[in-house]
Amino acid sequence: MVAIDGPAGSGKGTVAELVSRKLGFMNIDTGATFRCVTLAMLENNIKLEDDEKIAKLFKEIDIHFEEENEDKKVFLNNIDVTKKIRMKQVNDFVSPVATLKIVRENLLYLQRKMAEGKNVVMEGRDIGTVVFPNADVKIYLVASAEVRAKRRVKQLKTKGIECSYEEALENVRTRDKIDSTRELAPLKMPEDATYIDSSNKTIEEVVNEVLELVNQKRNKFEN
Ligand code: C5P
Repeated sequence: MVAIDGPAGSGKGTVAELVSRKLGFMNIDTGATFRCVTLAMLENNIKLEDDEKIAKLFKEIDIHFEEENEDKKVFLNNIDVTKKIRMKQVNDFVSPVATLKIVRENLLYLQRKMAEGKNVVMEGRDIGTVVFPNADVKIYLVASAEVRAKRRVKQLKTKGIECSYEEALENVRTRDKIDSTRELAPLKMPEDATYIDSSNKTIEEVVNEVLELVNQKRNKFEN
């Protein structure tokens, strides 16, 4: 289990994807699971305080990932929502949704189940602290808010979604604040994680650093 945590836009997604490919591991993007629940709540007009409806939603919801020619797709109740979960309404609502106990409890169960018995690279905010506190390798990946906003704009563009730099900066700052100050499973560096600041590093450099840490851990096991 390789756990990669960090704030929005720190490069976790890209790094986790490349590391998992190199290692032949499964990659689980836990942010996508929170985004699916958020989308389902928006589509069904469910408010944050409506625990009963959220509980019912979890009984009916199915979230899974599929990979096609290295293209990762996210499915919500068998509908491809890969693009939809990146839209502005979801971006703005996802962090408040992720503060809810009922949502975190249900997704914690789902995330652990998805990883059961597999070699996994899992990325999110609380993987090394809460979801898999015994992960073999833990990374805490950060970058300045400005660099992260620039990356977000670029990343969204490749997905065909337009977003201004100012809007992206505002969104990463707001989400950072909500994610790191919430009561349940806040974003924070696990004590035994390796801190990597990707602001002035290429993706390749970060990927190699993570692979090196995985190798070190493997050698330790084997000796
Ligand atoms: O990683 P991504 O930016 O897609 O995550 C969307 C949101 O989901 C985060 O801003 C955070 O509020 C929430 N999240 C979380 N715990 C995780 C992964 C994501 O609270 N493990």
